[in-house]
Amino acid sequence: MRRFFVGCDAISGDLVTISGRDARHIVKALRLKLGDAIVVVDGVGRRYVARITATRETTVEARIESMCDSGVSEPHVPITLVQGLPKADKMDGIIQKCTEIGIARIIPVMSERSVLRPDGASAERRMARWRRIAEEAAKQSGREAIPLVADIGTLKSAIEMLRHEGALMVFPWELEQEYSLHQALSELNPSSFPSVGFFIGPEGGFSHAEVEYARAHGATTVTLGQRILRTETAGPVVAAIILYHMGELG
Ligand code: SAH
Repeated sequence: MRRFFVGCDAISGDLVTISGRDARHIVKALRLKLGDAIVVVDGVGRRYVARITATRETTVEARIESMCDSGVSEPHVPITLVQGLPKADKMDGIIQKCTEIGIARIIPVMSERSVLRPDGASAERRMARWRRIAEEAAKQSGREAIPLVADIGTLKSAIEMLRHEGALMVFPWELEQEYSLHQALSELNPSSFPSVGFFIGPEGGFSHAEVEYARAHGATTVTLGQRILRTETAGPVVAAIILYHMGELG
């Protein structure tokens, strides 16, 4: 059965309204008819079987008949990547790979050494593209939830949000000499936290002030070993290591 992702606000009672590109796709390309069944996945990964009750030019309405088993392909503890904005279009690849790997949320942050500093319309365009990439990668990889791509924010607000959730915060830092990600995951038991967040700097890394701020607010700095990974490599690698450690990958 065809699957369609919708926001939680698209469901009201047992009625779901699909709009935009998906609605056009249902009507024009798939030519689904009244009474055809589809699977609808909401923003938090719940899946429903629904039957089409109305098709219009720009919206499709369906009535929910049952709820499917929830999220077998979704990690039990949500993982968040806080990514210092990298140059050019590197964020596109980071979002695509991290979505396939299983991340729940990406928070792009304008950090001190971010070269790219989009604002206004340019930031809006980028965020819309990133969200499309996350949606496409989620569908392609058979996920049951689309990772949330937050608005571009600041390191401070991302830390604040994760702290508020009671997240385990790991902060890979190329100048950390002692404590490794491997040790941190073994000692801190990430599966016992409500969520796990990790932070990756832009090309130039995070500044000392940013590292100190994160440490002072509950983040643990870790080394990824002897080699320096590029910013676009570090996010997917750390996501894979954390999910592997938690038994959610591999
Ligand atoms: N410009 C810095 C490297 C930045 S790499 C330098 O050349 O020293 C970009 C980001 O990847 C870093 O901010 C960090 O989050 C992560 N990273 C890459 N390699 C790492 C390593 N060996 N240990 C910890 N973090 C690393």
